[in-house]
Amino acid sequence: MSAPIAPVPAGVRVRVPAKINLTLKVGAPRPDGFHPLATVYQAVSLFDEVIASWDDPGQFSIVHSGEGAGEVPVDDRNLAVRAAKLLAERHGDGLPLGVALSIHKAIPVAGGLAGGSSNGAAALLACATLWALDLSDEQLLVLAAELGSDVPFALVGGTALGSGRGEQVAPVLGRGSYHWVLGFGRKGLSTPAVYRTYDDLQPHAPPPEVSDELMAALRSGDAERLGPALDNDLQPAALRLQPQLRQTLETGLEYGALGAVVSGSGPTVAFLVRSEAAAVDLCVALTADGVVRTARTVTGPVSGARLLP
Ligand code: ATP
Repeated sequence: MSAPIAPVPAGVRVRVPAKINLTLKVGAPRPDGFHPLATVYQAVSLFDEVIASWDDPGQFSIVHSGEGAGEVPVDDRNLAVRAAKLLAERHGDGLPLGVALSIHKAIPVAGGLAGGSSNGAAALLACATLWALDLSDEQLLVLAAELGSDVPFALVGGTALGSGRGEQVAPVLGRGSYHWVLGFGRKGLSTPAVYRTYDDLQPHAPPPEVSDELMAALRSGDAERLGPALDNDLQPAALRLQPQLRQTLETGLEYGALGAVVSGSGPTVAFLVRSEAAAVDLCVALTADGVVRTARTVTGPVSGARLLP
């Protein structure tokens, strides 16, 4: 383990993407309370930025700006803070480490886009770099899996199969790039509440498995084929908790989306479209219709957490 290098005055900047789930299959809860998942993640071009700067030893502070900044906890519940502390504890080797984290959020909070998890992944990379800890990708992935189910994927990015409780990720061989519109809800959805509702609706869920059709669609790179294969077992639970999401999904399809799916535990809806022009049109239509708070055009796949110059 190398000693920390001289402080980096301007801080280390890491950009990290949101994820959507192209499919999310959920089994019955395991004895440890987690649900077994089979999912295909895709990282999309909606990014939070995490800046890590030196602070006094033992200090782990955090500030936020941007989308939903006021709703994010600034104590040990914050995944970026937990990531920094976990890294210091496991790999700090008794060194006098501290960090001031600053996060600029574009990913809506509690949106089903793994904003918190992505911030945890970005903080791991930013702090490891700031503190000059010589960690391999594998070591970072181990810490990421400990922090949360969606954290390892945020390091890896691209399109990946997630298994276990989502923390085991393997790249998916696929082609091409896809155009998406993300429709943001007016209120967030609590992930534990969505899972509880799922268990009520589906008390005997079978072991989760990704469909062959979705994998074939990804191999073909054909958006027309991928659209109808999008699928989320948690969608009925999200619709039960936010019934207006049904209208959001229907409106997008009426305006020509190739497919529409609630991302993760929602309430963000991901619409797959043919082209950049179609994405802009759908964005305008959804916003004008008032079915979403706001909408964004994005593309995927993009890479996972990356250091910025
Ligand atoms: P999940 O990954 O569980 O699907 P999500 O994508 O729906 O979550 P997040 O944006 O990760 O939503 O927020 C879920 C909760 O995580 C928030 O309500 C917030 O209390 C907590 N949280 C902790 N750290 C962060 C962070 N850095 N950014 C946003 N939320 C955070």
